Amino acid sequence: MTTIGIIGGGQLGRMLAQAGSTLGCRFLILDPSPSACAGGVGELLVGQYDDEARLVELSRRADVVTVEFENVPPDAARYLAALLPVHPSPSALATARDRLFEKEAFRRFHIPIADFRSVSSEEELRRAGEELGYPCFLKTRVFGYDGRGQWVLHGQEDITAAFDALGKVPLVCEARVPFEAEVSLVAARNPQGEFRFYPLNVNVHEKGVLRFSRPNAWPVTPDLQSRAEALMEKLLVGLDYVGVLAVELFVVNGELVANEMAPRVHNSGHHTIEGSRTSQFENQVRAILGLPLGDTTPLAPVAMVNLLGEVPDMGALLKMKDVHVHAYGKSASPGRKVGHVTVRADSEDELDAKLDAVATIVCPELAAKVPRRTKA
Ligand code: AMP
Repeated sequence: MTTIGIIGGGQLGRMLAQAGSTLGCRFLILDPSPSACAGGVGELLVGQYDDEARLVELSRRADVVTVEFENVPPDAARYLAALLPVHPSPSALATARDRLFEKEAFRRFHIPIADFRSVSSEEELRRAGEELGYPCFLKTRVFGYDGRGQWVLHGQEDITAAFDALGKVPLVCEARVPFEAEVSLVAARNPQGEFRFYPLNVNVHEKGVLRFSRPNAWPVTPDLQSRAEALMEKLLVGLDYVGVLAVELFVVNGELVANEMAPRVHNSGHHTIEGSRTSQFENQVRAILGLPLGDTTPLAPVAMVNLLGEVPDMGALLKMKDVHVHAYGKSASPGRKVGHVTVRADSEDELDAKLDAVATIVCPELAAKVPRRTKA
């Protein structure tokens, strides 16, 4: 029996282990928390990500190691990779983990990005603001996610406060992208070099956190899909990537501008569990085991709604036809991702109506922001 090691025991690790168990795999999951939710479906190894004894145990007991988040300490990834296969590779992880390296990689592969400056002093931030214009986005190079480690500067008057808040660590400052939509492409590549792409998702964030994802919603067109796939192919090949990779992009005047990449399964791909012939989780397992990748053709119109804070009354959701609740087994806490809902329908019009009904239960304050098949 194959044992897969996962670094990180959150919901992504949990769904990876759920998908991989149908292929007969066992999972050994390294996480600092004894209550990490992936522990409900795999064996938890409790320890810090750089705990040498835990890494040795992982390398002895697992056949291959993967990750469910990007902030794996680079030394830990390299240490493991000297002992057993690690996918994605430590160098791909190191690139995706750091916003500066990530931007340099996008440039190397001729993928458009917002203009940016690397910033390490208040003076450099002042110059960056002058050169990039306001508003601009100040971000920590590592450990930023879901809008954390980020500050929007509206003018020179914000520089000192922004630098005081974030300036203890290396930063990048980015020009604002006046986007009409945010989209993401999730793809998989196996060691044989085979690719699979999922449909482009339109993503709606609130305060930096993903709330809705819907493949093929406005403004996605077949042409935008092929341009996103071409760009993704450059990344997958350029990084010699093995596993699932997600790239988040802005759509500006119909053009794609890359924001960031995630070297793992992605929240905007959760609907592939019910919405695709092969989920992103199963394809991640297939990719890292060197197995043929599964078909990513959609099964039906589908969308995803995140559950933040606490899982609402499941009965109200589950009595709706083809609505699926995923509760991660996490304790309630304000803003915490505790689950998601997949809404599947027989037509895009039906999906619009069902998505409205689900949003009314889950997040009524955001019901007007639900992504639509056509421009509102
Ligand atoms: P990030 O953590 O980089 O994904 O940023 C979180 C959210 O902030 C994004 O989903 C966008 O809505 C917004 N954002 C980040 N960077 C920019 C930018 N350069 N221009 C406009 N909006 C941005």
